[in-house]
Amino acid sequence: MNTCLLASGSKGNSLLVCSGRTRLLIDAGLSARELCRRLALVQVAPETLDAVFVTHEHIDHVRGLGVLSRRHNLPVYLHHDAAAVLADNQRPGRVIEFETGSGIYVGDLMVKAFPVTHDAQATVGFSITGTSGKVGIATDLGMSTRLVAEELCRCQTLVLESNHDEAMLRDGPYPWPLKQRIKGNHGHLSNRDSAELLETLCWEGLETVFLAHLSETNNHPGLARTTAEQVLSRQSRCRPRLLIGRQDQPTSVSVAN
Ligand SMILES: [Zn+2]
Ligand SMILES: [Zn+2]
Repeated sequence: MNTCLLASGSKGNSLLVCSGRTRLLIDAGLSARELCRRLALVQVAPETLDAVFVTHEHIDHVRGLGVLSRRHNLPVYLHHDAAAVLADNQRPGRVIEFETGSGIYVGDLMVKAFPVTHDAQATVGFSITGTSGKVGIATDLGMSTRLVAEELCRCQTLVLESNHDEAMLRDGPYPWPLKQRIKGNHGHLSNRDSAELLETLCWEGLETVFLAHLSETNNHPGLARTTAEQVLSRQSRCRPRLLIGRQDQPTSVSVAN
């Protein structure tokens, strides 16, 4: 299973997960044109995608959803509460609404959505399981819960939010209400919270960890990496590769066989 963060951050998010037979896009938060450009960088034609799954309806996750899905006739899987509030210009041609908790089969992959706490109408994380393992995705969540940790266990690849450094957020330029929103239980996961979650998810099979949705104002890639490396160095079960999601370009592709 190949995984690539095409874009990550508050200006737009999109993740590509491919098995031998199936290609899924998780979120479409850049313009359709920019999404196609980034897909081309990893040799994927947009019309060969099997489906788009959406974590939630915030604009940094759906900006190009309507145009991309209509232009290439892609089915879009959305939580039914998110579908109800999607703006008209982001509305896909083919929507398949889902509830959390049950498996959705697309090609040779099984996608399971689970609820996370975040200030959208409905926000989910995903686990994607295929014959070569499991990818776990949780990129907009104010806090980790026991359910999140359970759903993300025994993944070969993890995509975890590492949004902000707590001191940079506290001392940074954002207005106080926005700071409260970000660090609240329905906001975004800090580097420290993300590392604590990662620590609980370490097992012998963990190969790659993507740190995602880094704030350009309240975080620094080096700080996010160091915080994650500190918890990884405290355990001996695995030595995963750490990749940092970027706003301006795709990460390299992680391959799990
Ligand atoms: Zn969001
Ligand atoms: Zn977001």
